[in-house]
Amino acid sequence: MIDTHAHLCFPDFDKDREQVIEECRNQLSAVIVSSARYREGLLALEVCSKYPNFLFLTLGFHPTEGGTEKDAEKILDLIKENKERVKGIGEAGLDYHWEQDPGKREMQKGIFSRFIRLAKELKKPLVIHSWDAEQDCFEMVRGQGIACIFHCFSGGRELAREILKEGFYISVSTQVCFSKHHKKLAKLIPLDRLLLETDSPFLSPQKHGAYEPLVKGFDPNRNYPWNIRLSAEKIAGVKGISQEEVLEAAKANAVKVFGIKI
Ligand SMILES: [Zn+2]
Repeated sequence: MIDTHAHLCFPDFDKDREQVIEECRNQLSAVIVSSARYREGLLALEVCSKYPNFLFLTLGFHPTEGGTEKDAEKILDLIKENKERVKGIGEAGLDYHWEQDPGKREMQKGIFSRFIRLAKELKKPLVIHSWDAEQDCFEMVRGQGIACIFHCFSGGRELAREILKEGFYISVSTQVCFSKHHKKLAKLIPLDRLLLETDSPFLSPQKHGAYEPLVKGFDPNRNYPWNIRLSAEKIAGVKGISQEEVLEAAKANAVKVFGIKI
């Protein structure tokens, strides 16, 4: 199984990152390490180089970083400098949940369009952050000829259908373990367009729902890549198929869209 979006280079993992990664190696086939800030990206480059064919990297810029074009520029340069190693661009996108100011939303759009252009230029998949801005994100990427992944998608079912029609992927996070809306979304995503992610250290199923930790000895307030097993169980339930089928399909999709060799 593959977790396609985990922030293993977030400070939350500073004290035991090696142990978490070792346990990931016991449990999963690969993890895509997402980054959304410059320093996180630098650390991700370093950490992923120690685990070839297991940890893979995406570099991006979070829309709520309050960033100026200059901050984004540093990350765009970092991507170009490491284009052989970078398996995807992102996360990048729009966040209207935390940003209400119309001027700043426009600035987010300007920065996001630069990441879209780079994904197109480098022919890499784009990992999209779209909290409460799903429609605008979709309008910006549709018809651009790039592979898109709507990470942690929480938009409506109508829009989800449009996104799928465009040939894009929807990544279901561990929110599916504790949210009715996400279960309904998961039900409508066909198996060949489904990805699984945890967005670790966020969205812990143990913190938000009544779940026992799958692995003992790790703080249940954080999320871990192996928790996609719980998501797969929930998705299997709503689809009436086996957990293994969900994990296998999501894994095959991850290998295909990120072009990774495991
Ligand atoms: Zn993320």
